[in-house]
Parts: sequence; structure tokens; C-alpha cells
Amino acid sequence: MKDTKGPAAQLLEMMEQEGIVQISLHRDSRTGMKAVLVIDSVAQEGRQFSASGGTRFAHKDPDTALKDAMRLARAMSRKAKVLGVQEGGAKAVVIADREKTVPLLHAAGDFIQMQGGTFRTAIDLGFSMRDATTIASRTSFLDSLSHCQKGLGSTGENTAEGMVKGFETISRHVLGKPLKECTIAIQGLGAVGMALAKRLVRKGCKVTAADTCSKKCEKASSIGVTIVPPEEILTQQADILAPCALGGVIRPEAAATLRCKVIAGGANNILDDETETDKALTGRGIIFVPEFVLNSAGFLQALVERRGGTVREARQLSRIVPERIQEVIKHSRMTGKTLLEAGIELFGTEKDKTQIRPGRKTKANANRAIAI
Ligand code: NAD
Repeated sequence: MKDTKGPAAQLLEMMEQEGIVQISLHRDSRTGMKAVLVIDSVAQEGRQFSASGGTRFAHKDPDTALKDAMRLARAMSRKAKVLGVQEGGAKAVVIADREKTVPLLHAAGDFIQMQGGTFRTAIDLGFSMRDATTIASRTSFLDSLSHCQKGLGSTGENTAEGMVKGFETISRHVLGKPLKECTIAIQGLGAVGMALAKRLVRKGCKVTAADTCSKKCEKASSIGVTIVPPEEILTQQADILAPCALGGVIRPEAAATLRCKVIAGGANNILDDETETDKALTGRGIIFVPEFVLNSAGFLQALVERRGGTVREARQLSRIVPERIQEVIKHSRMTGKTLLEAGIELFGTEKDKTQIRPGRKTKANANRAIAI
């Protein structure tokens, strides 16, 4: 029989299936700018509601943008649990079907402001620090501002800081050798990838990387990174493969072609189909480190900036990343689950937990908050 449900009924049914709190579609009549906002989970204090997540400029197709925002908002809910903060998870996508002009950036700022503070955001993929300044001229709910605007600068630096600290734990407890002896392959030399490459070279690691932008490759090469073509980076022989560009880059069928021991990246939602790809990787003996734990120090910096803290504090607090990774490794060893399953069991949403294999009961996760 033909499905007679209208768009609102279909959307609400999908929200119920996915455990989503709110989906907003926005259109600016002056510029034609369109945006999608997904709130996966929300924190409540009295009459105040809040949910945090980045705003990216991506995708020409609204359905792809919605799907992306849904997965990213879920990742933010998980990261809030990793950091132990009372905060919901959300994500907005400004649809990249037109030029990124100043009026469009103003419209994006107005759209953020219209949410009245329930949605707090930071710039993400497709927006530069300069764009952040323009967007911020229209809203007071944008973190991740530049230093000259009394912000803490790019969150990519703190994301990389947490990742390197996480790599120390992974090299010691998973690879069984010091980090400086590890070979690392990085996909993407943007805000996260470049900051990560710099830190790893400084540690003495052998770093290989790729980016579609030749200028970024030249810059990385000048600090000692070996550059390979973008189509070769995922199949490099390496101890750690670190995807730091787009999500969904590792598909189940790709597992057979990989030559790394561990996948530990900064990109959100690295695995195309989380459960199936994790299974395929496990079959090949490749360990996947949940990215929502490893890259959570970017979100942490935005939270520190919001309460008026300093860069130094954000860098110091990023020690939470190796602590959480250690918890995930311990939980995985106790339950016989993969690191991804263990990470979801410890930090996933209620909806997430219905999608993983039932495991043995573990100690309650009390006391996981840090003072941000
Ligand atoms: P960015 O836009 O600064 O960098 C992305 C880089 O990837 C660009 O240099 C781009 O040229 C490159 N790239 C794109 N396609 C590529 C390909 N096929 N091969 C090689 N390189 C390619 O973005 P970013 O802020 O560094 O974020 C990177 C990823 O990390 C995103 O998935 C983002 O959501 C995630 N993330 C970022 C932060 C943060 O603090 N910025 C925090 C957590 C997660």
C-alpha cells in the first residue's frame, strides 16, 4: 500500500526511531540561505535548556545535510558524556548551495541568534576563523572566537592536544611501544590535522599525510611530514591511521585494503556504518578508537571559552582524553567488547545503547565530571 503519511508525520516517526529531540529547518528570505539544526539531546536547568555543537557549511542537498547533522548531533551528545558535563548534543549545517558571502554569514548568525541560546555553537568544517568573526557580529551564542575577539582561537589546536595525549595512551597500552617509535598517517591537514602533525613531529614520530590542498601539503612538508597523494593515505602502512578530514571515510569493504594497526582520528563519524565497519575491522585485527572520546578536547575548549577560561586551562584539561581512553580500554578488556562498543556503553545515549550487543554489567559511571 502507498505510504500516505505527510512530511511532518514522516519526520516525527524518524525522530522517534532515532531518539531526536528537535529538528529545525530554516530559510532566510533575503539571501536564500538555508540551514538545518538537529538537537539530539538537551540539558535542562530550571527553565533553561541547552544543547551544544558546531555549525558547518557543507552539502548542496538538504537531505544529506540533515543526515550529517543527525550523526554529528549524536556525536556531540556522546562527547558531553565523555567530558562529564550537563549539556545536550546538537549540530547545525548551513547548506552550501551558494557562495559564502558576508550577507549569508550574517544570515547564519541571525539563525543562531533566533534559537535564543538553547543552541550554543562553534564554527566547524567549511567556516574559517574570519567567518566566525562575521557570524559573531550577529549572535552572542558563538564560541571558538579568535584571540583578538577575546576568544581562545581555533578549537583544532585543543582537539589535537587531546589527541596526542590520547595517542600516548594508545601507543603504550594498545601498540606496546612509546609514541616516538610509532608511524602515523594523517588524512587532512586542516585545523585539526595540521596541529596534530606538528605535535607528532615534535615528539619524534614518523608522520605521513595527505591533503587536497597543495599549500597545506607544502607547509606540512616544511616541518618534516612526508606527503603522499590523497588517494593513497588510507592504505598507508602505519601504526596509527588518523582520518582528520571528512566523516564516513572508512567503509566495511575498505577494511580489507587497510594496512594500519589502529584507526584513531579527529574527524567525526569516521566509520560509514558504525556497527558493520567496526565488525569488519575487528575481523582484520584493526583496532578502532572511538573518535567521540579522542576528539572531545575541541568541545572542551569551547566550554572553557564560554565560562571565560584561558587557553592554558583548556590545554591542561585535555588530559581528560587519555583518562577516558584508558577507561574505554579497561572496559573493553573486562567485557570482551571492541573499543567502540565499550565507548558507546560508557558514553553513549540511551538510543545508542539499544543498538549494541548486551554485555556484562559494570560499575556505575559515577564521578566522571571534571571542573570545566
Ligand atoms: P578543516 O576544514 O580545517 O580541515 C579539513 C582538511 O581536510 C582540509 O585541509 C581539506 O582540504 C582536507 N581534505 C578534504 N578532503 C580530503 C581528502 N579526501 N583527502 C585529504 N584531505 C582532505 O576542518 P577541521 O576543523 O580540521 O576538522 C576536520 C575534521 O575533524 C572534521 O570532520 C571535523 O568535524 C572534525 N572535528 C574538528 C574539531 C575542531 O576542533 N576543529 C573537533 C572535533 C572534530
